[in-house]
Amino acid sequence: MEVSRRNFLKVSSGIAGGTALGGLAGLGANLAPTLARAQELRIKNAKTTPSVCPYCSVGCATLVHTVTGKIVNIEGDPRSPHNEGTLCPKGAATYQLHVNPNRPMRVLHRAPGAADWEEWDLDRAMTRVSELVKKTRDETFIERLDDGKLVNMTPAIFSLGGATLDNEWNHIHQKLMRGLGIVAIENQARI
Ligand code: SF4
Repeated sequence: MEVSRRNFLKVSSGIAGGTALGGLAGLGANLAPTLARAQELRIKNAKTTPSVCPYCSVGCATLVHTVTGKIVNIEGDPRSPHNEGTLCPKGAATYQLHVNPNRPMRVLHRAPGAADWEEWDLDRAMTRVSELVKKTRDETFIERLDDGKLVNMTPAIFSLGGATLDNEWNHIHQKLMRGLGIVAIENQARI
């Protein structure tokens, strides 16, 4: 690989900016073996557990690598007949669902009309949600239709589940929603 002055400057700026690999790749260097080696070292001695991407109903198979109980890597499972080791960008970022310092860990509440968020403890937030669900259900509950048909439902509450809810969660969630008389139930993974 011949390095011209122009290309040298390109690599130098890449290194200065913390993107030395990007700079080398820009010069045509084949980084595949280096990256493969780095990946291999990361999961060396890791325990591998088969799993499923949580983000949509395709259900791509994944391999979760853990070292001393901590997730160090998640990638597509090449044995899977439908995703054959590949993951879409969302699935490829599943690692960050677990390990992400930017993930919100506190309950934030913004009152109607307020401009700022207020930090609430979880018990207070759960109690408030329960109060509002009960109030709305009580005010809108329909026991029978005009023709006398028993329906025991409320049309005033809608449940939309996130794609990361697993089967067990969805099972319990359905029971709770149906028990409350909520009929509008959807899940992002199905949408
Ligand atoms: S979000 Fe992407 S990786 Fe995950 S199951 Fe769906 S298609 Fe597969």
